[in-house]
Formats: sequence, structure tokens, C-alpha cells
Amino acid sequence: MNHLSFPRPQPSEIGERLRAEVREFIDGWHGNRHGAAAFSGFDPAFSEALGKRGWIGMGFPKRYGGGGYGLAERLVVLEELLAVRAPIFAHAVAERQSGPLLLRFGNEQQREEIVHRIAAGKCFFCIGLSEPDSGSDLASVRTRATKVDGGWRVNGAKIWTSSAHRTHYMILLCRTSPAGDVRQAGLSQFLVDMKTPGITCRPIVNIAGDHDFNEVHFQDVYLSDEALIGAEGQGWKQVTSELTFERSGPDRFMSHMGAVEEFVTALRQQPSAEGARTVGRLVAHLSTLRRMSRSIATMMTDEQDAALHAALLKDLGTCFEQEIPETLRLVLPTEPEPGAADGYSAALANVILHAPSCTIRGGTKEVLRGMVAKSLGLR
Ligand SMILES: Cc1cc2nc3c(=O)[nH]c(=O)nc-3n(C[C@H](O)[C@H](O)[C@H](O)COP(=O)(O)OP(=O)(O)OC[C@H]3O[C@@H](n4cnc5c(N)ncnc54)[C@H](O)[C@@H]3O)c2cc1C
Repeated sequence: MNHLSFPRPQPSEIGERLRAEVREFIDGWHGNRHGAAAFSGFDPAFSEALGKRGWIGMGFPKRYGGGGYGLAERLVVLEELLAVRAPIFAHAVAERQSGPLLLRFGNEQQREEIVHRIAAGKCFFCIGLSEPDSGSDLASVRTRATKVDGGWRVNGAKIWTSSAHRTHYMILLCRTSPAGDVRQAGLSQFLVDMKTPGITCRPIVNIAGDHDFNEVHFQDVYLSDEALIGAEGQGWKQVTSELTFERSGPDRFMSHMGAVEEFVTALRQQPSAEGARTVGRLVAHLSTLRRMSRSIATMMTDEQDAALHAALLKDLGTCFEQEIPETLRLVLPTEPEPGAADGYSAALANVILHAPSCTIRGGTKEVLRGMVAKSLGLR
């Protein structure tokens, strides 16, 4: 039986110095905080301002526009931005997973053309994995790229594609050869310019009334040979490494910190022992998750496979953030009201509407627990 261990995170003195700089930058920033849910505000101007400071793609090599820092420094900046609900969603996917994927598997042209624009906060990505009838079971994707002269012809559909209507590129997973005995074989990834003829985006409005998701259709979309990322047929291996980035950061446990902050402000008006206990429990839980996230960053820096550790963190982290509205309501049972003048009431409404999605996006909790169970030899 395997034993999961989380190595001691590498401390970062540079990161702690950066923390003060980020706080100073945020103090001088007068933009809107996005309700109570971090990680959903889409503001290209804010992304560009961060890019100018060198706070996007911090771990990318300098020759591709990155800061040449380690992942530990990146986490410090991200934590500070999430803590104040800064609108980072425009560049978040590109900096978290698309840029690192291109750096690892992309060709030189893709790196030269795209990665420095990501680091500048000017190039945004969406994720083309889920399909109608194919969400958790990615090996069953049916979008197909067929080889044609000089490139590929793509037909199919993706669903739940966050920000597809306002991003520049998608990294698309599709089938390039029929599934044989090994279902995960024959999948490939492509870099897709969202303006390519034959792509249409249909909006899906979420439970909070926002347009974030889309259904994206590909009808005879032509992609050149240069659009292939990595090697043909290696899509499964590549996507697994991409998901480790997607599942291991503080965005998987800090999305609802805005509501906690409003709760603490409200609690000051009516302090109680129960309130103090609740805050203590939340902070203890948060610091454990933070330690795990930093530990995974250390593993990734050392080029160790952290897919399983990331699955565990994502499960624990998103269950933690999903429980926040209920935890808070038991102590301060204010009526949740979207857009209310009372910050706590508005924040509560916002997180109640967003909480269900935490344990679905990026892989459902059942699927993640299946991965952990398998590693322990339990299935
Ligand atoms: C806010 C949000 C943003 C998203 N953004 C994107 C995006 O940008 N790009 C993208 O590609 N996708 C995105 N998704 C889609 C998300 O990744 C999928 O919804 C998710 O992987 C589940 O797929 P599904 O909806 O098809 O559900 P299904 O896979 O049909 O699952 C339905 C239920 O069955 C359970 N289940 C399925 N398989 C198993 C199994 N093997 N063992 C046990 N239980 C199982 C699941 O846990 C779930 O409870 C997003 C989803 C959300 C909520």
C-alpha cells in the first residue's frame, strides 16, 4: 500500500518580502471587489496592471517574460490577491495551467508567441475538456481532430467552458485516433485561437445569474500542424500534469474568504464564544490546507509527480470552502440577500450561490476520492 506524505514546504524569504509589496499595491487599488467570491472577477485592466508589476507567470523563465521566481513566491502573491477578492479570473487559467503546459510540452513558436503575453496579463485562456456526456470520464471525449493536408479538421462540442466568450485561446483535448484497448490512448491537445472560423460559443447562465460558462461548438475548424501541443496521442499524460496545477493552488480553498472576512466584521458587533471558536476552527483548517498547497509546490519544483496529492488537497480544500456558508450561518443567522448594503448579508448570498460548484469544477469530489482510494489499494 502506498503512503501519501507531504514534504516540508520550502520557506521563501523573497516571497515574504513580496507579500508586503503586494499589500501596498492592493491598498492603492480602488477597483471593485467582486462580491464575496474570489476568483471570479474578470478585469483585463487589473490583469495588465499585475503583469506590469511582474506578478503573473512569476515562475516562468525570464526569456519567456516570466519572473524566474519559484512556485513558493507565486503562491504568496496569489494568496494576497485571493484574500482581498481581487479580480484575477481573466488571466488566472493562463497563468495557473496553460502557460506551464506550453512551457513543458509546447513548441518553441507557441512559447515565443504566447507565454510572454500571458506573463504581461494580456493573453487569456479557457479549458476545453468537458463535453456533453463526458465530464468526469475524460477518456470518453468525442470531439475529434482528423488529419488533413497541413493540419487538422476539428468537429465536436465542449461544455461548461468558463470564459470561452472572452478569452483569446483554448487548450483543447480531443481524439486524434480511435480508442483501442487503452481508452486514454489516441487523445491529443491543441492550441486553439478562439477567433478561428467554425467556432461558436453559446452562453450558459449559472445559478447566480452570471454568464461565465459556455457551450463551445467546433464545425470543420481547421487547425495547422503547429497548433498541436506536445506529441500526438500524448494528450492524457499532458492533461494529467495540467490538472495538478489546476487542483493544488490556494484558489481551491480561499474562494470564500471574503464571506469569512465579512463574518468577522459582523461578529465584532456581537462577539460570542461560539463565534470565536468558529473563527479559530476556520483559521486552523485554512493553515493546514495552506501547508499542503505549499508542500505540493515544493514537489512540483522538484519535478515529482504530485497528481494524487493535488487531488487530495482539492477534495479537502473545496469541501472546506463549500461548508463555509453553513458554518457561518449557524453562528450569525443573517438573512442572505444578494447586493444588500449589509456586507455580511450580501457575502452570504453570494457564497450560497457559488458553493455548490466548488466540489464540481476541476474534478468532482467523488472522482478525486476514487483516485485516492485507488492509490491506497482500496479499489
Ligand atoms: C464552476 C465550474 C466551472 C467549470 N469550468 C470548466 C471549464 O472551464 N472547462 C471544462 O472543460 N470544464 C469545466 N467545468 C466542468 C467540470 O469539470 C465538470 O462538470 C466535472 O468534471 C464533472 O463532469 P459532469 O458535469 O459531466 O458530471 P458527471 O461526470 O456526469 O458526474 C455526475 C456525478 O457522477 C459522479 N461520478 C462520475 N464519475 C464517477 C466515478 N467514476 N466514480 C464516482 N462518482 C462518479 C460525479 O462525482 C458527479 O457527482 C466546470 C464546472 C463548474 C461547476
